[in-house]
Amino acid sequence: MAAPLRVLVTGAAGQIGYSLVHQIAKGDVFGPDQSLIMVLLDIPPMQAVLEGVAMELDDCALPLLKEVIPCTNEAEAFKDIDAAWLVGAMPRKEGMERKDLLAANVKIFKSQGASLHNAKPTCKVIVVGNPANTNALICSKYAAPHIPARNISAMTRLDHNRALAQVALRTKTQSKDVKNVIIWGNHSATQYPDVRHAKIQIGGEEKAVEAVINDEAYLHGEFISVIQKRGAAIIGKRKLSSAMSAAKASCDHIRDWFRGTKPGEWVSMAVPSDGSYGIPEGVVYSFPVTIENKEWKVVQGLSIDDFSRGKMDATLKELQGERDEALAACQ
Ligand code: NDP
Repeated sequence: MAAPLRVLVTGAAGQIGYSLVHQIAKGDVFGPDQSLIMVLLDIPPMQAVLEGVAMELDDCALPLLKEVIPCTNEAEAFKDIDAAWLVGAMPRKEGMERKDLLAANVKIFKSQGASLHNAKPTCKVIVVGNPANTNALICSKYAAPHIPARNISAMTRLDHNRALAQVALRTKTQSKDVKNVIIWGNHSATQYPDVRHAKIQIGGEEKAVEAVINDEAYLHGEFISVIQKRGAAIIGKRKLSSAMSAAKASCDHIRDWFRGTKPGEWVSMAVPSDGSYGIPEGVVYSFPVTIENKEWKVVQGLSIDDFSRGKMDATLKELQGERDEALAACQ
């Protein structure tokens, strides 16, 4: 068996963390032959909860799990890590202003960016804590120079998976039959779920999703808004946020980053813009990407119609605004 990977989960005492650490530790991300050392970080008041989660992980008796380290010291937690899930973030409290929320998160992600100087240079980072794209930007701005900005990403895979699920429900197929949906932009209500290039396996043939659904009003309206508002709809039903599916999506994101995307398929991932599709550098924007040898590449050459351009620009504008507010809070 290969040498163990050292994996960090922050906010590990929270509800996403509770679902996430088990999925990672049982091999869903790095495969059935990769042993793991799992470092669980949270803030000092959560020490006892964290220890309880670590005890449960031990009790799962998982063959791949060499060691669990509950930890409240950030610098120690980042030491020699190969991968990090940055889940812990300041939640919006009642009466809290947006700029105060941003300022609190800037502080967390500035500090965690700096702590990455302890990580391996190949370390891959997914930011889940909201506002995820902007938190990732701040983290990379303060990251040690040996960690390339392209190693720090944010999650839009949950939105991507939600789009696969909605197409599957509408066409009475399964998510596995649908591929190449795209989430453009921010992980927020301005995100743009796009099926213009998506394909579906149906009746023994691969067809364009647009042609199979054949309802532009739905695809330009209800489809987009259902995905944009899915998180709120789940809170409405469960009275808790969608932690299980968020944990699963973050595992999909890191699994594909380490093990590659399937031939002919892309996934949505928020990465530092390289200028593709006219999205200026300086924002962490969700694009369709393919991944090979642990390197992502934005899929090139997709046609963008006027409808898409309008949506892509709107979510860009929001991200630029968030970035400017976050940078102002860094002063
Ligand atoms: P959750 O585990 O439910 O959520 C954690 C973060 O993920 C939040 O920012 C949340 O955003 C975000 N998120 C992204 N996508 C989703 C989704 N689909 N569903 C739900 N959340 C999503 O929060 P808890 O409060 O249960 O746990 C957070 C933990 O983080 C706590 O244990 C806390 O102590 C810890 N923490 C750790 C820090 C650190 O390690 N330095 C710093 C701050 C907190 P949103 O708020 O928008 O739901």
